[in-house]
Amino acid sequence: MSEHSFATRAIHAGQAPDPVTGAIIPPIYQASTHVQDGIGGLREGFEYNRSGNPTRSSLETQLAALEGGASALSFASGLSAEDALLRGLLGPGDHVLLGNDVYGGTYRLLTKVLAKWGITTTTVELADADAIRAALRPETKIVWLETPSNPLLKIVDIAQIAEIAHAAGAVLVVDNTFASPALQLPLSLGADLVVHSTTKYLGGHSDVLGGAVVFGDDRFREDVKFQQFAVGAVSAPLDAWLTTRGIKTLAVRMRQHSENAQAIAEWASDRADFSEVFYPGLAAHSGHEIAAKQMSGFGGMLSLGLAAGADAARTFAESTELFQLAESLGGVESLIGYPSDMTHASVRGTALAVPENVVRLSVGIEDVGDLIADLEQALARLGR
Ligand SMILES: *Cc1c(COP(=O)(O)O)cnc(C)c1O
Repeated sequence: MSEHSFATRAIHAGQAPDPVTGAIIPPIYQASTHVQDGIGGLREGFEYNRSGNPTRSSLETQLAALEGGASALSFASGLSAEDALLRGLLGPGDHVLLGNDVYGGTYRLLTKVLAKWGITTTTVELADADAIRAALRPETKIVWLETPSNPLLKIVDIAQIAEIAHAAGAVLVVDNTFASPALQLPLSLGADLVVHSTTKYLGGHSDVLGGAVVFGDDRFREDVKFQQFAVGAVSAPLDAWLTTRGIKTLAVRMRQHSENAQAIAEWASDRADFSEVFYPGLAAHSGHEIAAKQMSGFGGMLSLGLAAGADAARTFAESTELFQLAESLGGVESLIGYPSDMTHASVRGTALAVPENVVRLSVGIEDVGDLIADLEQALARLGR
């Protein structure tokens, strides 16, 4: 598969027709156990489904092929994937260095759950290479980054941070949820591991929760796989199948998400209603050059600062009709959120707080003219 290009791999990797019936789509293996041909005589290694399921295996093959990884594991959610990765790689006394704008759930997992087991965590401004070097410690095992970040779409240089992390003997993990492998391949830029909330762009249809760890090589697979097997946060067969189905259209969806978001960012840049437009596809964005170097498109996420302030931002977020007010992102339908009180409510009042005049858009793949008209009618309501 690796000789084929991305869009082809997304459709064919791990997706051979059913050898028994010729069904073009591999079936959903909705089973908890597999019959053995004599004691220990496993077929294709399948035994009990906490350790493996054929539908999940298909998805894992597909995920590894997309990210250019050696292998992948599929989980019940993005956070359970992160949890297994962290417990697989870390022990008491180890330190994790996080970007200061990582997903709030990642920060919560480390500081509220794993801290009890002796893991320490600090955050750092990842755009500042000297600050990263200063924050690294002998016991730092993992550097963890997200780019573009949530919700201000900050961009950091994956290759540069990989070099800094490796020089200190740490492993680089990239949460590639926002870009998706259609736009950015962290393993090819020096990252050791990639994690995903497949709930977002990979699933792509807001109908399934899931997560993944993709391994650049074989160093960590058995440790993480053991955590998954011993604890059990596996993706269910139907969930794995839905994710596989979503992934087949990832390349074409990401192209349209990016095109629509770029058009909305340019529309918003021309309007005095917005004091800031956070979108890496704009030449004025501080991370535009790095994004252009390490991404093949700028993605579907963008944030807007309302010039009229916090109340206007709240009213705006409650006034759109096509953009539905909801948490999450990455589906075909457009969503709007008010990070201060929604996704980022837990960091209000801290250094990680999001400005209160900011709304976040997950731009879907509807007709972009309709989307802009929706934003215009919501702006018109602010005047009332
Ligand atoms: C949603 C999300 C997660 C968590 O994934 P779940 O599937 O909700 O558990 C992690 N990282 C990022 C960037 C996310 O957007």
